[in-house]
Amino acid sequence: MTTTPVNTMNLDALIAELVGLEIITDPTQVAKLSQDYYNFSPVLQPQLAGKKGDLVVRAAGEAEVLRVAAACVKFRVPLTVRGAGTGNYGQCVPLNGGVILDLSSMQAIRWVKPGLACVEPGVKLANLDKKTREIGWEIRMAPSTYRTATIGGFIAGGSGGIGSITYGQLRDRGNLLAVRVVTMEDEPRVIELRGDEVQKVNHAYGVNGIITELEIPLGPAYPWAEWVVSFPDFMTAARFGQTLADSDGIIKKLISIHAWPVPTYFAALRSCIPEGSHCALLMVAESCLESLADLVKEYGGTVCQQKTAQEASHGMPLGEFSWNHTTLHARSVDPSLTYLQTLFPDDKNLKLVEHIYHHFADELMMHLEFFRVGGVARPAALQLVRYTTEARLNEIIAYHEAQGAFIFNPHTYILEDGGMKTINVEQLKFKEMVDPYGLLNPGKMRAWLER
Ligand SMILES: Cc1cc2nc3c(=O)[nH]c(=O)nc-3n(C[C@H](O)[C@H](O)[C@H](O)COP(=O)(O)OP(=O)(O)OC[C@H]3O[C@@H](n4cnc5c(N)ncnc54)[C@H](O)[C@@H]3O)c2cc1C
Repeated sequence: MTTTPVNTMNLDALIAELVGLEIITDPTQVAKLSQDYYNFSPVLQPQLAGKKGDLVVRAAGEAEVLRVAAACVKFRVPLTVRGAGTGNYGQCVPLNGGVILDLSSMQAIRWVKPGLACVEPGVKLANLDKKTREIGWEIRMAPSTYRTATIGGFIAGGSGGIGSITYGQLRDRGNLLAVRVVTMEDEPRVIELRGDEVQKVNHAYGVNGIITELEIPLGPAYPWAEWVVSFPDFMTAARFGQTLADSDGIIKKLISIHAWPVPTYFAALRSCIPEGSHCALLMVAESCLESLADLVKEYGGTVCQQKTAQEASHGMPLGEFSWNHTTLHARSVDPSLTYLQTLFPDDKNLKLVEHIYHHFADELMMHLEFFRVGGVARPAALQLVRYTTEARLNEIIAYHEAQGAFIFNPHTYILEDGGMKTINVEQLKFKEMVDPYGLLNPGKMRAWLER
């Protein structure tokens, strides 16, 4: 790695260079702003505990980002970008200290037009959604953290979520249209990437550029009804989910399936889900509810809670029990629990889901999210795991892989090891050009460490 430890002289000089910008040096605040939700992983906890930046700079716009980038290059200080800090894998935890560049104040929505929006990276997803809904459009997909997460952090650190059943994942062509990126060269500059070029920085943990503006596509905004449906048998619930996912005539945003006892962790839903039942949490366009009711009947489900879009706009959204919020709720009851992220094969009978469900019994609590992968609706699982040891966790992962499931490992902060497990040559090449000193979020990109 080309970064050297940050010495006091460098830091003093850096602070002097950044006069006029909002700088936080209070150790408690800096430590807080160096954290994310990596504590979901008992493996990451000891690896990342105590890691923190030396100071936080809160940039108000691209010109300030350019100043911070220039100062960090001049004094060879590492820089780690932060949105809202809701990542699960320590993506924004600085491994080598340095500057935390907090972009949560860059909240301008530049323009919104049918199907498209242009925004600064610190805009919260929920705020953007509210704005685009004024003209009848909405963001295509959002993480379950959508009330707190920023659009920049979602693009750089997330993968998909509520809405992915229709639109696929962030990495799919067309789900990010353009970005402006500040470089960390001797003379930092702004590069605009459009079309396929955006993949150079899409889901790159901020290791190869600081995103200062994004153009993102929108989808038509529907009034989304929220239903909770219970089933006496888990595999019936799962197969109901697959059939709903494949029902092209039913417009949906969320199909989240939970095996008992997962519903016991949902304090706000517990009273409506019968003891011992498995459940489906659904967001479906109001115009499609009759068809949904027929499908529920076909699978022998019982609708135990239903809210119109209007009713759903008050209180906790159903989406906040789905995706990784399931893990959050479960861990708030039992902090010894952890999770996995698994993509199951394209098999409408869900044979491997069934096998894994029975094979691990109580050690793994099944939680499925349906989404589109290459145009096909498939289940991902964010299973809850009763954690014992790291060795056992690795055995569980290995068993899944041996059976043909793909694990997106949430117990590593290394970009490639968590995701596709392959080196992304385009992202590496881009880093070599825009971050020659390896100052951006150092230690996170295997391709750079091993080149
Ligand atoms: C309870 C819970 C539920 C979650 N559910 C989901 C889910 O459904 N789907 C999903 O994909 N994720 C999910 N996540 C993970 C996370 O919330 C999302 O990925 C979220 O979008 C991250 O946004 P953020 O603003 O908090 O980013 P941060 O955590 O602040 O940053 C994420 C990464 O992006 C980098 N980054 C941030 N801004 C920029 C920028 N402007 N330029 C370059 N790099 C940048 C950071 O350095 C870091 O590497 C969940 C997390 C939790 C805790």
